[in-house]
Amino acid sequence: MVIPLEEDLAIGEQPRGPAERAGDVALLRALADEMRRAQDYMVGFPVNLDFDYRDLAQYLAVHGNNAGSPCASTDYHLHSKYFERAVVDFFAQLAGAPAGGAFGYMTNGGTESNLFGAYLGRERHPDAVLYASARAHYSVPKIARILRMEYVGVATDETGAMDLSAFRSACQQHRTKAAMVVATIGSTEEGAVDDLRGIHRVLTEVGIDRAHLHADGAFGGLLAALGPRPVPWGFADGADSIAISGHKMIGSPVPCGIALARPGDVERIRVHDAAVGADDDTISGSRDALCPILLWQELRRLGRQGLAERVRRCVRVAEYAADRLRDCGRHPVRVPGSNTVLFDAPDHATCRRWNLLHVGERVHLIAMPHVTEEHVDRLCDELEGTGTPSPWMDRLAESG
Ligand SMILES: *Cc1c(COP(=O)(O)O)cnc(C)c1O
Repeated sequence: MVIPLEEDLAIGEQPRGPAERAGDVALLRALADEMRRAQDYMVGFPVNLDFDYRDLAQYLAVHGNNAGSPCASTDYHLHSKYFERAVVDFFAQLAGAPAGGAFGYMTNGGTESNLFGAYLGRERHPDAVLYASARAHYSVPKIARILRMEYVGVATDETGAMDLSAFRSACQQHRTKAAMVVATIGSTEEGAVDDLRGIHRVLTEVGIDRAHLHADGAFGGLLAALGPRPVPWGFADGADSIAISGHKMIGSPVPCGIALARPGDVERIRVHDAAVGADDDTISGSRDALCPILLWQELRRLGRQGLAERVRRCVRVAEYAADRLRDCGRHPVRVPGSNTVLFDAPDHATCRRWNLLHVGERVHLIAMPHVTEEHVDRLCDELEGTGTPSPWMDRLAESG
């Protein structure tokens, strides 16, 4: 890995001369090459590295800004909201948009999408307690702090999903207050899926009728919709708002996400004519105009079928990994239908080299679209002591 020294990167007083600039170009090219090569060993993070948007390079020489509502006309005409709406429509259909359609916009990632959902819920019910499973993404308790909501972490069952009897007890304790529930649709750690309909049922049984359900499908939304075992995660299953990631299953050079909600709830937060002539019903001020174009191109290329095929291939690779890791004596487990395999952690250097993150005593492999059977074979060869670790990756691991 090119690990430049801090002083090599310092921005100086004088413009750089031609020779110095050539050096900078070489340095940046080497860094990009290394980042591309990281694909060979990136099997532990929920991010897809398999994409190439270089034919859209012309968009790096223009400015765009999707400030304000994705639906509104705006005085700022350098934007890509047409593309943003097409991307949002695709996901809204996937999530079973209610009659009259869903509201949606592109965010800077899953966290903003979750914040948006929780914000709507709190504006609907200002006294709401925010419930989420103990395995919810770390953005969720943070969002509770930002919105100053009381937070209740609910214990999980053996699959890592929210335990409904623990949820019932928590609801009973706070029965007089409204509920804002974040259901995790695919936990980042093990791919566990909370039971959205079960959560709904518990709220009804306990008698909490003021509630907002947010489905955090940042990681698992596409698996839930298109995987071999479709699971309830959408509007028809009781979600009032939904988060989906753009850089996880689809892939993009910059993090991005999608937030979806019921149009009536968004009315409540909309400020009219606030953002360069547009209504404001999003979290950010200036908004990214580039990612909508990237995602539009990729989704248009794949189509729903192509995306479904990609998702299923990930699950097949995870199945293959579970089989191979079992043969290696690593005791793998996988939530059925998920692309995440938890197994006994190898030594520290192997974990670093393969980007395997710890979940307690174990680590997880996440079969994202760039991860192939060949990755699994090389990893297993190493675990069995027959593989040859790459020297450059070892240098990277050492350099931390
Ligand atoms: C990744 C993830 C998020 C947060 O997404 P960012 O894009 O990193 O902000 C939220 N929830 C889940 C379940 C995730 O996996």
